[in-house]
Amino acid sequence: MNQPKVGFVSLGCPKALVDSERILTQLRLDGYGVVPTYENADIVVINTCGFIDSAKQESLDAIGEAIRENGRVIVTGCMGAMAGEITRVHPQVLSVSGPQAYEAVVGAVHQYLPAPARGHDPFVDLVPPQGVKLTPRHYAYLKISEGCNHRCSFCIIPQLRGDLVSRPVGEVMEEAERLVKAGVRELLIISQDTSAYGVDLKYRTGFWAGRPLKTRMLELCQALGELGVWVRLHYVYPYPHVDDIVPLMAEGKLLPYLDIPFQHANPRILKAMKRPGTAEGMLDRIAHWRSICPDLALRSTFIVGFPGETEQEFEELLDFLDEAELDRVGCFRYSPVDGAAANALPDQVPEDVKEERWQRLMELQAEISADRLQARIGREIDVIVDAVDGDGARARSSADAPEIDGVVHIVDPDGLRPGEIVRVRVEGADDYDLWAVPVAR
Ligand code: SF4
Repeated sequence: MNQPKVGFVSLGCPKALVDSERILTQLRLDGYGVVPTYENADIVVINTCGFIDSAKQESLDAIGEAIRENGRVIVTGCMGAMAGEITRVHPQVLSVSGPQAYEAVVGAVHQYLPAPARGHDPFVDLVPPQGVKLTPRHYAYLKISEGCNHRCSFCIIPQLRGDLVSRPVGEVMEEAERLVKAGVRELLIISQDTSAYGVDLKYRTGFWAGRPLKTRMLELCQALGELGVWVRLHYVYPYPHVDDIVPLMAEGKLLPYLDIPFQHANPRILKAMKRPGTAEGMLDRIAHWRSICPDLALRSTFIVGFPGETEQEFEELLDFLDEAELDRVGCFRYSPVDGAAANALPDQVPEDVKEERWQRLMELQAEISADRLQARIGREIDVIVDAVDGDGARARSSADAPEIDGVVHIVDPDGLRPGEIVRVRVEGADDYDLWAVPVAR
């Protein structure tokens, strides 16, 4: 009854979400309860995002709200690396720690809200073996590494999270197995650079299921492909060895889905961005991948209005999109991030030009996306059901990652349950989503 209670606010990307899950798991193991309201919490932990200015503002607003509503606030996460900016606005916060500082944030909770005396603690038994998850039961993010060895000029992630540190392959596979045993049907593989997995460990050989396994992207993907669930790869950079992964998709071992943040197509801009991988021959590589795996869905993100981007270079990006016919595209207007090298570049692009380029890119991509989805009408595809209500169900195909891509609306969801993978026939499409009906097996 006297269990100390923690409120938790998790902001930012899936990588931050995984950090939140890890902190919450430890707090639950230490005997704390986790509550969803400020008023029932004895203390509030906020896992912040500090990637761009708007995310920083959102983090500061969330801290302000928690101070108003609860008063006892501990801050962690990416923006925690800029402790001075937080304490200047909110001097009342009890403690600030940076990203991946699990022990520091859990230690701060212990300091300001003592854990219950240990001994037989029934709450410990309630922590599931896969830990606390913030995603629905049927999918989970699996983080395979921390940090990044690249130094893209617009990004401060390496300053916040440090250089690449890959998790041992045996540990990753054991976590994947625990998740599958707990009912997860789709694993979303995340990192800052999934293709670089194991580089820091010189692809050391680890062990899983009593057999040797290299800490390397291909071997990890092969092992994950044995688990019998959907496996979706995020943040893959177009290094040559990605060519070896695509056949696994054609064989049905991995979802035919690649999330590759290209960011631009013009070689000069990519060089100024200091992007890993090369744009050269990218269209040929994409054509090659599609020849191996025709159902491959490609997602990417781009930045328009990077310093010095000329109209001609922007048009080169549009031409690339026109030819590449990517399935899913996110686009950001370049915005300077405190501490990023690109801030010092000459020829910053005016806001109205960025806005106009963003509109043009999004219009073009909406047409491409609509055409690609139209081509799926009449086909039968497998989808995973995310939610069911009276009128229909919301599901996703292999081409749709949760939160960021489109959805498949199932019109007649009789008897379907979240987490089920079912076959549907596509009957309609708009720019981003599909409509479908279940097919009797
Ligand atoms: S690859 Fe570039 S954009 Fe991605 S985290 Fe590393 S430095 Fe940042």
